[in-house]
Amino acid sequence: MTKYINTNLFIDGQWCEAESRRTIDVFNPASGEKIGFVSYAGIEDLERCVKASVDGFARWRKVPAVERAATMRKAAALMRERVQEIACFLTMEQGKPILEARTEVLGAADIIEWFADEGRRVYGRIVPPRNIDVQQMVIQEPVGPVAAFTPWNFPITQVVRKLCGALATGCSFIVKAPEETPASPAALIRAFADAGVPRGVLGLVYGNPTEISKFLISHPAIRKVTFTGSTSVGKHLASLAGLHMKRATMELGGHAPVIIAEDADLELAVKSLSAAKFRNAGQVCISPTRFLVHNSLRDDFADALVKYVEALRMGDGLIETTTLGPLANARRVMAIKSLVSNARQAGAKVATGGEVSGDRGNFFAPTVLLDVPLDAEIFNQEPFGPIVAMRGFDSLDEAVEEANRLPYGLASYAFTKSVRNVHMLSQSLEVGMLWVNQPAAAWPEMPFGGVKDSGYGSEGGPEALQAYLTQKSVSVMCS
Ligand code: NAD
Repeated sequence: MTKYINTNLFIDGQWCEAESRRTIDVFNPASGEKIGFVSYAGIEDLERCVKASVDGFARWRKVPAVERAATMRKAAALMRERVQEIACFLTMEQGKPILEARTEVLGAADIIEWFADEGRRVYGRIVPPRNIDVQQMVIQEPVGPVAAFTPWNFPITQVVRKLCGALATGCSFIVKAPEETPASPAALIRAFADAGVPRGVLGLVYGNPTEISKFLISHPAIRKVTFTGSTSVGKHLASLAGLHMKRATMELGGHAPVIIAEDADLELAVKSLSAAKFRNAGQVCISPTRFLVHNSLRDDFADALVKYVEALRMGDGLIETTTLGPLANARRVMAIKSLVSNARQAGAKVATGGEVSGDRGNFFAPTVLLDVPLDAEIFNQEPFGPIVAMRGFDSLDEAVEEANRLPYGLASYAFTKSVRNVHMLSQSLEVGMLWVNQPAAAWPEMPFGGVKDSGYGSEGGPEALQAYLTQKSVSVMCS
C-alpha cells in the first residue's frame, strides 16, 4: 500500500519548506480524514522562485531543442515507471477511481512526448525581400518565465499541458498547483527534475491563490500567464494580466451541450456519453452537461442512462472495482445539492439519485434529472458534478439555439448519422471543440480551448506552442 507523502515547494532546483514553515492540511475526499500537508509559500519564497526562474530561463533557452526534447522524453519515461505510486497519491488526495488516476498519469507521459517532438519543429521563416541585397527573417523566441495556475480536478493533466508548452519552447515555468491535491503535481515536477531539467527552470509553489497570482502576474520578470479554472477567477486573472501587459491563456468553465438528433445511434450515444459523464465524478470542464435529446428518443435514452447509473459502483477510488469516486471537496457537495434542489423546485423530475450519499467523505449519488426547465440553475451554471440534466427538443434549430444560449463555449457533442446535420452543427455551434458520434478525446495534437466566456488560447496542437513564443523580424542589409 502506497503511503501518502507531504509536499514541499520546489525552488531553484531544491525541494524546500516555506521560510515561514507554514503548511496547509490535505484531506482524503473519500474519508474526510487528514492525510498530510503541503508547504505554504510566502512572498519571500515567491521572490526566490522568480529570481531562480529568471536564471533558469537564461540557461534553458540556450539548450538546443533536440536536447530539451530528450530531457522531456526522460521525464515521460519516469512518469510511466512511477505510474502506480503517482496514481495512488492522485486518488488519495483527489478521489477519482484508481483506473482513471493511472490513465491520467500515462496520459501525461503521452502529452510530454508529443510536446517534446513538436518543440523540435518550431521553425522561423525567410521572407522574400523588396531589395535583393536584404535578407528578411522571422525568428521565433521563447516568451520568457511563465506563471501558471492550475486546478484540482486533473492535478497532473492541467499542469503538464502548460509545462510542456513552456519547456518545449525554451521558457522557464513556475506553477501554483492546487493546495487540495498537491502530491500528484509535485510527482510530475519531480519526474522533470530527475530527468535533468536544469536548476531554476521549474518552480512549484502552493499557498494563498490570490496572493500568489497577484505577486507573480504583476512581477516584471514574468512574461506569460496561463490559468485553468472557473470563468470568474479567469476574468480576474485576465484583467490583472492585461493591466501588466502579460500574454495570457485562459482555459475556463464550460457547460457542454449534447445534441442527440432524431437519427442518432442510440446505443452508441448511451455508451459514449454515460462513461464520459461520470468520469472524475463529472468534475471535468469538457464534461457533457446539457443533454438535449430529440423528443422521439427521450424516454429510451433516459431509461438506458438510468440503468447505467444504477450499476455504477460508488466508493473509495483506491478499491479497484470502484467506478465512481467522491467529489473532490465539500464545496462541490454543497453546490451539487443546491443545484438539484433548485432543479426540483423548478419542476425537473429526479429519475435516479439526487441525494448526498453516506456520512463519510464527499459522496453524492449519481443523478439523472429529466425535463429540466431552461431557467433551472443547472441549465445555466457549470454543474461540475455527477449529474445528467436533460430536456427534449423537436427541431435541430431549436437545439442549436439552446446550445448557443449561454455565454460559455468550450466543448460540445452531437450524435447523428446525417452528414448534413454534422455540417450544419459544425458550422453553427459557438464552441471551441465538437465531438461527433464519440466521447471526448483530448489528444495533445488537437487544439484544446474555448471561445466566449470559456476563455482564449489553446492547450493542444501547434497552437499550444505558439502561446509561449514571440516573433522577431530581422532584416539584414547584406551589401
Ligand atoms: P475557484 O473558482 O475559486 O477555484 C478554481 C481554481 O482556481 C482552484 O484551483 C483555485 O486554487 C484557483 N484560484 C482561485 N482563485 C484564484 C486566484 N485569485 N488566483 C489564482 N488561482 C486561483 O473555486 P473551486 O471551488 O475550486 O471551483 C469552482 C468552480 O470552478 C467549479 O465548479 C468549476 O466550475 C470551476 N473549475 C473549473 C475547472 C476547469 O477545469 N476548467 C477546474 C476546477 C474548477
